[in-house]
Amino acid sequence: MHVTFYGAVREVTGSMHLLCTDNDRILLDCGMFQGRRKTTGEKNRVLPFDPRILTNMVLSHAHIDHSGRIPLMTRAGFAGRIYCTRATADACGYLLPDSAHIQESDAEYLNYKTVRSALSQMRPGEIGKSGKRDLQEIKALLKKNKHGLNAEVINGYIKRFHLEGVEPLYTIEDAEQALKSFEGIPYRDPVTVGEKTTCTLYEAGHILGSAVVMIHSNVNGQRRTVCFSGDIGRYGKPILRDPASHFEADGQVVDLMIMESTYGNRDHEPVVDLRPRLKKALNETFDQGGTVLIPSFAYGRTQELLYVIHELYDSGEVPRMPVYVDSPLATNITKVFGEHPEVYDRETHETFLQQGKNPFSFRQAQFVESVEASMALMREEKPHIVISASGMCEAGRILHHLRYKIHNPKNTILIVGYMANHTLGRRIMEMGTAYEASGRSGEPPIVKILNKEYPLKARVVKIGGFSAHGDRHEMLRFLKASGLKIKRIAVVHGEEDQSLAFAQQLNQAGYTAVVPHVGETLTL
Ligand SMILES: [Zn+2]
Repeated sequence: MHVTFYGAVREVTGSMHLLCTDNDRILLDCGMFQGRRKTTGEKNRVLPFDPRILTNMVLSHAHIDHSGRIPLMTRAGFAGRIYCTRATADACGYLLPDSAHIQESDAEYLNYKTVRSALSQMRPGEIGKSGKRDLQEIKALLKKNKHGLNAEVINGYIKRFHLEGVEPLYTIEDAEQALKSFEGIPYRDPVTVGEKTTCTLYEAGHILGSAVVMIHSNVNGQRRTVCFSGDIGRYGKPILRDPASHFEADGQVVDLMIMESTYGNRDHEPVVDLRPRLKKALNETFDQGGTVLIPSFAYGRTQELLYVIHELYDSGEVPRMPVYVDSPLATNITKVFGEHPEVYDRETHETFLQQGKNPFSFRQAQFVESVEASMALMREEKPHIVISASGMCEAGRILHHLRYKIHNPKNTILIVGYMANHTLGRRIMEMGTAYEASGRSGEPPIVKILNKEYPLKARVVKIGGFSAHGDRHEMLRFLKASGLKIKRIAVVHGEEDQSLAFAQQLNQAGYTAVVPHVGETLTL
């Protein structure tokens, strides 16, 4: 058996590994590279093999850096099935079309800029028949309204002026088509995924539906086993069961473990601190009559927040102010959470389900659908909580809530997720916490939102325990608790320094670990 590592190798995104035997070719994950467009654009467009050679695919979980290139693969002729948990399949039903929509809008915007800059270099009269028209008038035609572009007109000018247009990586139609290949299966139920290959999924504790993938293949009469960790979650988190510690046969031999290392060299704040810290932040803000704004990822973080707020409200520890989930994707994903109680942990069953309650739905929780309702909410002055995307404040409705709430010292901006470099979320986090640390002395820092400047007077509070990834101790705990006899570990899915540090730690702990290079093949 050969295993080739094509993505999330010495970096975090683009997860993709290929298992080949004489009989079967099984792809593990088909993720998108994320980050700056310049560096990821080309990497995403080219698949490293012809997808028609694949027997089937197994998907560890629905995050776009694991699933985001599936529509590209199905469009290029992949004819197999995509095996994953049912919750993952349902989440992909919203995430892949959403990703396609982003691809389409991105391409549309780039093409718009291309046409505009071409028009700017022209003189009236240079544009053929419509030369009489004022250039300004044509520029106005490129837009449908204040916020929407007119793709048809833009593409027309791209063709007419022979400009270099950009195609979206894939379209919503491609995404809808891809969803037909999905095959949702339960945890711990072996399925045949190749002529001589089976697959079993186990709980990974990372995100709803996330799985550790165990592949058995018969190679010339000998059994070969590959275990793919997917992303490993934290222990003791709300909603999800902990990462699996029982595998079908104890002491089972694993020839190769493909292991993530996102936090291979880091430690997290303890999970137990999450609830009291959230309680404190909410109470302090409500005492002042303020509102709490929470930029949050639609998938996972939003539902965890709802869960903990629901608990705090039920126990009377926090006054029951309205909670608005203002993100259409988060609303849809919350539905998926509600539809999969079979994957909840025991605590969720005891706290909510056995009391006849849905953890994500309570009287104060409201899901904002229309843009109009969202606009009305921005002006709401009474204390409340808004959970809105995007998680790093780069786009979406959170920007408008920030515009209306950031200047008021009564309000709190609660940071519960990772904020990448060069994002608005990162700037708010760094400037806000520094201003807080200085005792709020002097002028408040200024942040730019949608090209306008605002004083950052709202309090900025950061709560760390929410990460969906285990830290190095939790990943090591997963390996030790598994009871698996692991012959070799390939460390993937981490920035290079994190992967190298984690491999070193594994070798010190008695494992044999390597960090492959992209395109490298290991033979088992
Ligand atoms: Zn993930």
